[in-house]
Amino acid sequence: MKKITLFILIPILLLTFGYSQIEVFEGMETVVDTQKEHYYDLDDFGSVKKFDIHIHINTEEDFFITQTQADNFQFLGIVDDRPFGLPMEEQQRVAVLHLKNFSKRMAFATTFSVDDWDNDKWSENTIMELKKSFSDGAIAVKIWKNIGMDLRDANGKFVMVDDIRIDPILDFLVTNTIPLLGHNGEPRDCWLPLDEMTFSRGYYGSHPEYHMYLQPEYPSYQDQIDARDRMLEKHPDLIFMGAHLGSLEWSLDELAKRLEKFPNMHVDLTRMPNLKLHTFNDRKKTREFFITYQDRLIYGTDSQINAANNVAEFKKSVHDRWLLEWKFYVTDEKIILEKFGELRGLKLPTEVVDKIYAKNALRILGLQQ
Ligand SMILES: [Zn+2]
Repeated sequence: MKKITLFILIPILLLTFGYSQIEVFEGMETVVDTQKEHYYDLDDFGSVKKFDIHIHINTEEDFFITQTQADNFQFLGIVDDRPFGLPMEEQQRVAVLHLKNFSKRMAFATTFSVDDWDNDKWSENTIMELKKSFSDGAIAVKIWKNIGMDLRDANGKFVMVDDIRIDPILDFLVTNTIPLLGHNGEPRDCWLPLDEMTFSRGYYGSHPEYHMYLQPEYPSYQDQIDARDRMLEKHPDLIFMGAHLGSLEWSLDELAKRLEKFPNMHVDLTRMPNLKLHTFNDRKKTREFFITYQDRLIYGTDSQINAANNVAEFKKSVHDRWLLEWKFYVTDEKIILEKFGELRGLKLPTEVVDKIYAKNALRILGLQQ
């Protein structure tokens, strides 16, 4: 009997919830309409102040930074603990070097190692290391998917991001108002068979070692999302930014649920193909999503900046990508999504663009507006 009541109640609650959300939206839209919405166009790209919150610089060369100056971008360089490419310590050395020369243009996020996880003093040693990084200029901390997908404890059990040994570090960040950037899990595609994937067939097809569908003994997609959610439940005051749409790239509804539940959660917009696909499928809903959560969405590209053979060509590719994404957000011009078809840009109002392109990043990072 109880079960039956729940079966009836939950859909009704969901419907009511979804419905009232749409009403709030439409109300907001009308208010904006009567005040006349204003829009940017393509030519405003250079004059509007912008921020890219997800950049990895792996070179001492500064050609990328000169391009940010030309295109009116500031950015956050992110150091992370990945097993390939430039080691974490080197990424940090490069970040500190650039920060010295371009302190108005950039900021950087540090990270921490889990190599010494089995040491009883891991939590306190890590806090000490982080303090050093903050005195070197870091203003945020990145936590990477190695927690949840690689690190195991002494018993061989996977360590998830809500592990109690990580709590003292997150408490320390809360006390000091330092934001945490979390790349937790992977796109949902990673756990699906190749023929059910949306965008990642090529990548996982050639990297079966990273394809979780083939590794059933590893934590599932849902395990990753649940652990991240439990971590946020335990630390409601933590300023958090989920990288890559918080690994909920496949569903605006699932993402909206978390943004409703966790008021200090933000996400970066580094899954452009998914955002284009949402727009292709339902432009009105996607546009409403951006307007409703305009304070929680942060522009970023996840660009990797390596030493370049042809600097001019590289700078042009960075500029072209930024401009193309600007076109998607500020105009309703036609845009092609490969293998799907044509869609129109979101043409968001200027105040929404200003927030997702700069104000939100500056606010959560505690930088001057
Ligand atoms: Zn990244």
